[in-house]
Amino acid sequence: MNRIYCNEISEQHLNKDVCLSGWVNKRRDHGGIIFIDLRDYSGIVQLVFHPENKEIFKIAESLRSEFVIEIKGKVKTRSTDAINKDIKTGFVEIIISNVVILNKSETPPFMINDTNVNEDQRLQHRYIDLRGKELQKNLRFRSKLIKSIIDYFHDENFVNIETPILTKATPEGARDYLVPSRIHEGLFFALPQSPQLFKQTLMIGGIDRYFQIAKCFRDEDLRADRQPEFTQLDVEVSFTNENEIIKLIENLFKKIFKNIMNISDDIKFEKISYLDAMKIYGCDKPDLRNPLMIHDIKDIVKDTSFNVFSEHVNNPESRITALKIPNGNKLSRKDIDDLTNLVKQFGAKGLAYLKCEDIKNIEKGIISPIKKFLNNSIITSILNRVQAQTGDIVFFSADNKNTVNSSMAALIKHLGVKLNLLSDGWRFVWIQNYPLFEKDLSTGNPTSIHHPFTAPKNENDLDLVDIFSIESKAYDLVLNGHEIGGGSIRIHSKDIQMKVFEILKISKDEMNEKFGFFLDALSHGCPPHGGIAFGLDRLTMLLLQLDTIRETIAFPKTQSASCLMTNAPSSVDNDQLKELSISITKPK
Ligand code: ASP
Repeated sequence: MNRIYCNEISEQHLNKDVCLSGWVNKRRDHGGIIFIDLRDYSGIVQLVFHPENKEIFKIAESLRSEFVIEIKGKVKTRSTDAINKDIKTGFVEIIISNVVILNKSETPPFMINDTNVNEDQRLQHRYIDLRGKELQKNLRFRSKLIKSIIDYFHDENFVNIETPILTKATPEGARDYLVPSRIHEGLFFALPQSPQLFKQTLMIGGIDRYFQIAKCFRDEDLRADRQPEFTQLDVEVSFTNENEIIKLIENLFKKIFKNIMNISDDIKFEKISYLDAMKIYGCDKPDLRNPLMIHDIKDIVKDTSFNVFSEHVNNPESRITALKIPNGNKLSRKDIDDLTNLVKQFGAKGLAYLKCEDIKNIEKGIISPIKKFLNNSIITSILNRVQAQTGDIVFFSADNKNTVNSSMAALIKHLGVKLNLLSDGWRFVWIQNYPLFEKDLSTGNPTSIHHPFTAPKNENDLDLVDIFSIESKAYDLVLNGHEIGGGSIRIHSKDIQMKVFEILKISKDEMNEKFGFFLDALSHGCPPHGGIAFGLDRLTMLLLQLDTIRETIAFPKTQSASCLMTNAPSSVDNDQLKELSISITKPK
């Protein structure tokens, strides 16, 4: 008799013998009859033990939650009043003819599928948590997603190649995880932040279409929903251009949506330039389901004496903006205080606003603490610019560009959700024409917006005096407000690569030490190439509409980068440290 899963039981099994194995979900004694809910990944089925079969009944009496059992029995329909509509197999039960206890279990620390268990406990006993239906669903979905990706790239003639984990630092902007070498005393491997340099080297090695489901390691602040080790879909192609990579990826997502999301409607991909995204949404990961947009109003308020505005009017590094919230009039004083606190986290000094109680009556129908500073014609122009209606509220932000952008973006995101403004569906948008460099706010030095291997739109631009105006051939893909992937066409000439390193103030010695092998490879016949990488954990999270990437990973780390199940990281014994010539100096 073949073993089947609980939820596979159907009409065709009625009055037939079946064999199942799984975990005891629950035991109920009902006046001489014992009912067991048997659980496997697929679902639950009710087992019935009658006292007539003494030996088996005795075993049933000893069963406890999470015992692992194998049963044989006959599938019977339940009487109408006993049907359980909550489970798929609720119309049947199995009258047991044989049961074997395959393993006993201690009382579990929490019940499977209990949604009130704190996350630390769930992570500590992950093997129990994994039995629950949510993680089972998420991990099985993730597995299908990976299969779909692998199939797609094979069909497109890509080669799946593994790149090293013990390697040299790759600059993706985070801190490296280091591994000491025993054989080379005092030296360290770095775990890859991404396979960036290897995939580019593969192109130089004549592998013209590469992909990999790659593990990446970044020792960074885990405030946001990040993991120290995470998985990327990593792709690189030779003899290509931006549009070809974009098409390749759009087709991948069309396939994923059709095959595993069962969405065969035409999935649309929009495109927006980095500068427009910052201008309209204040960030480069706009959620196009959210209708809220920022409007510049410097030209309108240029003559006002209101110093919150006037001090920024002539500063090219500043923005003065208005954000209309449809029906925002209903926001209470407390709501506005909360929003003010929100924008203050991004450096804003306050949050001025106009409430539109009657748009036709500027005198009495527009309520605002800053109204006395603005004349009627300015107010009318602002209301026209944002196309305000009666019932709306208009918020203002005037500050340096970074503060305006980040605080307005936070308002847009927060209010979009709070006021239920998001439309349904999946909105993909490519962000293009990124600047090549941005200013490191602490040092004032240029840093790469993507990484230093990204090609400029035009190589001659590297000679421009204003290096921050140089555009790159980078692109990011954003889905519903989350950056799911990013990449670029790469620099494929040694001279250009060195020029970029120079702009980044990387000395010749540092270049040789860190990237000597790569510069050498670039000078030995490197084809033009480009690629992209996607965060697979984040993508899984989004497609499953989960709140955290930890729910997509079998054994995730906590927010403080430790594994509660294995207690890693942990100390090692002195002999091991000695072998590695490492001594621990305790923090003072
Ligand atoms: N290596 C880059 C990253 O991890 C992606 C790419 O440029 O292909 O973000």
